[in-house]
Amino acid sequence: MLWPGIKKLGKELNLKRTDSEVTGMIKNCFVKMYDGNQIKVLELFVPQLNSDDKNEVIKKLESGKIKKYEWLSGGVKIIFQEYILPYSVTKIKELLDELVKYFYGKYFDQKPSCQHCGENNETEIYCINNTAQLICGNCYAQYERNIKNENNDYLNTPNNYLPGFLGALLFAVPGILLTILLFTFLNSLAAVSAVAYILLGIIGYKKFKGKISPAGAVLIIIAGLVMVGIGVIIAYSAVIFRELQAVNFELLIIILKMPEVQRELMINIVMSYIVSVVYFAFQFFQMMKDWKKIKTISKPKEI
Ligand SMILES: [Zn+2]
Repeated sequence: MLWPGIKKLGKELNLKRTDSEVTGMIKNCFVKMYDGNQIKVLELFVPQLNSDDKNEVIKKLESGKIKKYEWLSGGVKIIFQEYILPYSVTKIKELLDELVKYFYGKYFDQKPSCQHCGENNETEIYCINNTAQLICGNCYAQYERNIKNENNDYLNTPNNYLPGFLGALLFAVPGILLTILLFTFLNSLAAVSAVAYILLGIIGYKKFKGKISPAGAVLIIIAGLVMVGIGVIIAYSAVIFRELQAVNFELLIIILKMPEVQRELMINIVMSYIVSVVYFAFQFFQMMKDWKKIKTISKPKEI
């Protein structure tokens, strides 16, 4: 994510941007900054990073009371936690200036190596599927070729949406057993079986060769929603059979037509949707992100 604070700092430092981060070279360091959930993040990739350098970085972080960081390959990821107020962008800039000053002072004639092959070639920043990476000309050519092939494969894959949708429904059927069990013993918790419907649905969708695309993600969610309703009706019927101590469909239909039974069933279905909606939304965004169709490689944009 990219919020105004980091964006403004990026502009001030003459950096560029992708959709979700600011990025660029400052002296001989490759910098990325972005916002997260109550955090700001600075990733700094440097020409060399031996244990002395690491100690120096730790010292600077400690003097700024920054506790959260991770070592990356050839760099460090620094996490600025935001509790109530946003973390001061000025402080981030000061720390960045200090770190760059240190690494430029020590390794002024060196540059970070290619993040893909690790060779010390001439590098440039490219956004690969919207993530900035510092890569060399050879790796760029390789990425470009692979992305072109993958996109061609994607465009040439048959849509197969209907078989995929049917697969998602069919494979989700065993999830109904879980709904029945939960419904019988825990009642309202039956909505938890939405997780099973989606996971089984994804397997079924893929087995039936549904196209991995945003439209496919929508279909799996629709199949899951349908199954939640069907699951509750079947589970409810199972409970009625248990109370009747007989599997009698004629009687079941008479009971299901009673207004108070219909109302209770409706409440159960609505409750199940309310309980599972967060999970459906989570899965939906996850799939939309992972199943995005066209891959890209491009230079970062101006801020
Ligand atoms: Zn390379």
